[in-house]
Amino acid sequence: MYGRTYSEQRFSPLQQIDVNNVGELSLAWYYDLDTHRGQESTPLVIDGVMYFTTAWSKAVALDAATGKLLWSYDPKVPPAWGVNACCDVVNRGLAAWKGRLFLGTLDGRLIALDASTGKPVWETLTIDPEMRYTITGAPRVVKGNVLIGNGGAEMGVRGYLSAYDADTGKLVWRFYTVPGDPAKPFENPALKKAAKTWSGEWWKNGGGGTVWDAMAYDPELDLLYFGTGNADPWSRKFRDLPAEDNLFTSCIVAVKPETGEYVWHYQENPADEWDYDSAEQIILADLTIDSQHRHVLLHAPKNGFFYVLDRQSGKLISAKPFTNVNWATGVDPQSGRPIETARAAYEQSDAPAVITPGPSGAHSWQPVSFSPQTRLVYFPVLESGFPYKSAERFSHNRLAWNTGTDPVAAELPQDPAIKKAVLDSTKGHLVAWDPVRQKEVWRGERAGPWNGGALSTAGNLVFEGTGNGKFEAFRATTGEKLWSVSVESGITAGPISYSVNGQQFIAVIVGWGGALPLAAGEIGLQKPRMVNVPRMLAFKLGGNAKLPPASEVKPPLLAPPKATASAAAVKHGEQLYQRYCSVCHGDAAVSGGVLPDLRYSGTLNDEQWFQIVLGGMLQPYGMVSFEKELSREDASALRDFIIFRANQSLGGSSAPHN
Ligand code: CA
Repeated sequence: MYGRTYSEQRFSPLQQIDVNNVGELSLAWYYDLDTHRGQESTPLVIDGVMYFTTAWSKAVALDAATGKLLWSYDPKVPPAWGVNACCDVVNRGLAAWKGRLFLGTLDGRLIALDASTGKPVWETLTIDPEMRYTITGAPRVVKGNVLIGNGGAEMGVRGYLSAYDADTGKLVWRFYTVPGDPAKPFENPALKKAAKTWSGEWWKNGGGGTVWDAMAYDPELDLLYFGTGNADPWSRKFRDLPAEDNLFTSCIVAVKPETGEYVWHYQENPADEWDYDSAEQIILADLTIDSQHRHVLLHAPKNGFFYVLDRQSGKLISAKPFTNVNWATGVDPQSGRPIETARAAYEQSDAPAVITPGPSGAHSWQPVSFSPQTRLVYFPVLESGFPYKSAERFSHNRLAWNTGTDPVAAELPQDPAIKKAVLDSTKGHLVAWDPVRQKEVWRGERAGPWNGGALSTAGNLVFEGTGNGKFEAFRATTGEKLWSVSVESGITAGPISYSVNGQQFIAVIVGWGGALPLAAGEIGLQKPRMVNVPRMLAFKLGGNAKLPPASEVKPPLLAPPKATASAAAVKHGEQLYQRYCSVCHGDAAVSGGVLPDLRYSGTLNDEQWFQIVLGGMLQPYGMVSFEKELSREDASALRDFIIFRANQSLGGSSAPHN
C-alpha cells in the first residue's frame, strides 16, 4: 500500500540493511524516465514488481530486482491542461487492489489498470471538465472503494473526495468539503452546518478546500481520514470579512469509508489565508501520552505546527511549532484553535506582511516517516517567510493563479542586500521529532530549502534524498550521518524499502521539480545547478551498477535586447508577469530550473513572441495561448518586463528607462 500500510507510517520492518552495513549500500539498478518535469511518486512493490508513476500521470512497471521494464502506460494528458496545475505536472503514486492498479490523471480521470499488462480496465472522469481541477495525489482503496480527491484551490473549484467501486468504476459516494449554493438542498447535514461558517457568495467560485494528497484508514475504528486545502481565494478580503471559519477548508476530516458519512473534523487553520492547507500526509500511530495508551493521528502541515490528535474523537491532544512561525503564538488546548498574531491578518494592512512560514509551507507533501521503534517522526522542514499583501481588486481568471494577494508585493526584492538576506534565510533540514514530548530530537542540515521525503527502517536507519542530488542515510536514534551517495539530480520524493528473493532494496525516484522550483524563482534554484535526469534508482548491499557520468551544466549566454521600454510599460508587464506567468516560469522572471527561463528566450526580439504568447504556437508543449486574457499591448509589456529583468541580471540598469 501507499505508505506501506493503511496507517501510512512509511516504516519498513526490513533489517538486512542496518547501521553496521549501510556503508556497503550501492546502486543495484537504475531506470531512466522519459520526462524532465517534477518526480514525486512513491513506488509500490508487489510480488517482485515495482509500480510507480511519473510526471504527466504516466505509470511504469519494472522488475524490482533488476529494473527491467515490464510495461508502461501513458494516459495522454493534454499538455495544455498543465496550465491548471498549481505545482508542476507531477503525480505521487498508485493504489493497488486485487490485481489492479488505480491511477489519477492530471486532467481528472481515474483509471483502473490490469497490473500484469498495464492495460486499462475502466476509466471514469472524476471532475467537471469545464473546471480547473487537477489530480496529482495517489488514490487509496478501502473496503473495495477507490478514493480520489483533486487539487485546484487557487483555480476556483469546490473541493471533494470521491469513492468509486473498484470493480466497476461507478461512483459510490462523494464528500464535498465546501457547502454549495444555499438556495439548493445541501448534500448532507454536515454541509448545512458548514454553510454557517461562510458568508457572501462563496459557492460561485467553488470555495477551495481540495483533497489533494493525504488519506489514511483505521480498520479498528473504521474511519477514513483525509486532509483539505486552503479556502479560495487566499485573502480574506475577497472571501468574508469579518473572517469566518470556512469549513471544511484546512481541516482533517474523518468519515465512514463505505458511505462517506461525516464523523468529525479538526480545523488547523480557520479562515486560512496563507495557503497553509491541511492536505499533507496523515500518520496513524499508537502512543503512550501521560501514561495513557492513545490512538493518535500525527500531522505536520504547512503551517509549521506539529499536531497530535485523538483519532477517535478528533480532539486536539497537543500542537507545538516544529520550526519558526510568526503567524500564531500557539494553539489553544481547550478550543483547539490557533492563537493568531496581529501580523497574520495581512488583509488589515496596507504594507506587505512577512509571514513565516510562507505558502510553500514549513512542510508540504514530502513524505513523513514514523518509526515505531524510535517513536520519532522524520520529515523535511522548509524554513521560509513570504510577503503577503491583499490585492486592491480581485476577480477569478481562467488562466491565472487566483489568490487575491498582490503578486508584485511578493516578488523577491532585487536590492542585493535584501535579496541576500531572503535567500540566506530560506533553508531546509531533516528533522527527527518526538511527538509525545513535542520536541526536536535531532536535525540534519540541508544545503537548500526543497528536499525529499523520509523513510525509516527497522535497521535503525532514516533515508532521505536532497534537492542538491544526494541520497543519504542517518542513524534513526541520533542523526549520525552513515551513508551518502551522489545521484546527479535533485530528489524531492520519498524512498521505500522492499525485499525480493531475500535481498533488501532501498528505492527512490530522482527528478527536480514541484511547487518551489516552478514558482519561487531564484529561491527555487539549486545551488549549484544540476542537470535534471529523472530516474528510478534502487540500492542494495554490494550493488554494482553505475550511473553514467553527469553532463556539466553550462549556463547559456544571457544576451537580451537593449531595455528601451518606458517605466510604465515595464511596470504593467511586471504585474501581468507575476499574475499569469510566474507560477510556472518563476518569480520575477527567474526560472527555478524546470521550465524555460524567459530572460534567455530567443524570441524577445521578434514576432514569434506574440505567436507563442497569443497564438499558442507552443501549445503542444503545454504553453497555452493567452489570447483571451491579454491584448497585443499586454504581451508587449510582458516582454518589456522580461527584457528589463534580463538586463538587470546582467548588472545593467536597475531602474527602468523613463
Ligand atoms: Ca493550497
